[in-house]
Amino acid sequence: MTVRLILDGKGREVATASPSTSVGEACRMLAQRRIGALLVTGAQGRMTGIVSERDIVKALSEVGAAALDKPVSAIMTREVVTCSEADHVADVMRQMTSGKFRHVPVVDETGGLIGVVSIGDVVKHRLNELEAETHAMRDYIVMA
Ligand code: AMP
Repeated sequence: MTVRLILDGKGREVATASPSTSVGEACRMLAQRRIGALLVTGAQGRMTGIVSERDIVKALSEVGAAALDKPVSAIMTREVVTCSEADHVADVMRQMTSGKFRHVPVVDETGGLIGVVSIGDVVKHRLNELEAETHAMRDYIVMA
C-alpha cells in the first residue's frame, strides 16, 4: 500500500505558515484546524521547515509566554524528512518511529508539496487493512 492511497482518501490540502508567522498565530491555526503541525513555506511555496505543537511546547517551556511573539522560523525544524506518493506506508511508519515525529510531508519530483501524512492517517490506514484481512480470513474459514 502506498502513500497515494492515503492522500486519495484524505485529500491533498496542506496547512502552511510563512516563516514570519508568529508562534501565537501558529497556535491559533493549529487549534482552528485541529491539526498538530504546519509546513513553513517561503518564496514560491518552497518548504523551509515544519513547526509542530511539540516545538511550541518546548519554546514555551524555555522562554515562557514571550515565545508566542517569536516567528515560527525561530523554533521550526529545518531538516524535514519527506516522502513521495509512491512510497509504501510501512516505510513512512518506520521513518516516523525512528525519527520520533508524527508528520511527513509528501513531495513530488520537483520537491513541491502535495500533501501531508500524519501518524493518525497511518494508524487509520493500518486499522482498515487489518479489518480487511480479518474479513478475508473469516470468509476463507467459512467457505472451507
Ligand atoms: P511531531 O511528532 O510531528 O509533533 O514532531 C516532533 C518533532 O519533530 C518536532 O520538533 C517537529 O518539528 C519535528 N518534525 C515533525 N515532522 C518532521 C519531519 N517530517 N522531519 C523532520 N522533523 C520533523
